[in-house]
Amino acid sequence: MPALSSQPFDKQSYTSFSMVVFNKIKPVSEWVANQKKEGKSIGFVPTMGALHKGHLALVEQAGRENDLVVCSIFVNPIQFNNKEDLKKYPRTIESDLKKLDGAGCDAVFSPDAEEMYPAGHQTKTYDFGRLDKVMEGRFRQGHFNGVAIVVKKLFEIVQPHRAYFGEKDFQQLQIVRSLVTQEKLGIQVIGCPTVREAGGLALSSRNTRLTEAQRREASRIYQALVKARDMYPASPVDQIKQQISDLINASPELELEYAEIVCPDTLLPVTRSGRNTSAVACVAVHAGKVRLIDNMYLNS
Ligand code: AMP
Repeated sequence: MPALSSQPFDKQSYTSFSMVVFNKIKPVSEWVANQKKEGKSIGFVPTMGALHKGHLALVEQAGRENDLVVCSIFVNPIQFNNKEDLKKYPRTIESDLKKLDGAGCDAVFSPDAEEMYPAGHQTKTYDFGRLDKVMEGRFRQGHFNGVAIVVKKLFEIVQPHRAYFGEKDFQQLQIVRSLVTQEKLGIQVIGCPTVREAGGLALSSRNTRLTEAQRREASRIYQALVKARDMYPASPVDQIKQQISDLINASPELELEYAEIVCPDTLLPVTRSGRNTSAVACVAVHAGKVRLIDNMYLNS
């Protein structure tokens, strides 16, 4: 078995895997183009690595709905507004590749930052209207523009038919949908349900940085969202938000950053709950130095 390394790969593929691994743009683009010429449909799953069952569920869904699955692993520096978070972001390329091979992935694209952002590369400022001004956008300046730049670039490289994103990052999913519409990319964006631990905590690469006590207490986030769903639509929105806040802040390990109840498509605040008013509750919570986000549809 060849030695795997988190350094840039100098080979285009690893023979021990049934999938191929690329770290350069040109070969992965050519590989996809050849597969498409043979009539194969391509499902694409962009990730930042440190893979868990949530990511693998996306890969498996892409596998069911396409002939071939391409997954990217790239910790995108320009979407981190916090240098410490970028530095501490877990990097586990060797086990990621094994997991992807086991999940039926056909090709992995794992470039380094120089490959994605060569000196003098063009940047762009996107206009997402309100979508990137609220919630995560308010607390993480420039984050979604960095996401949009990398997703657009990855879409241009891979040119998939369908792309799979987790509902766990609900606002990101809506930003990507808007990006595809704005840029007329002709890619079908598919939102996939959040995969959770037995206690309800949404799986996240950042969970590995939680202490045992923080991890145990973090299941309150899920419990608060379930309570919100139970209360909707009979209770006023402010009361539901207060309840979320009370349940989360009751733990000494957790501190709520925001709780919002918004329209799923526009992310406009829902001011009056109602049986016919679609709503999703979105929260961000600090557990020590780790920031966790989660959300839940309230009327499903
Ligand atoms: P990340 O590596 O955190 O950028 O995530 C890559 C993709 O996996 C994104 O589309 C995420 O929304 C999705 N994802 C992350 N965690 C989960 C989860 N627990 N369930 C479903 N999808 C997830």
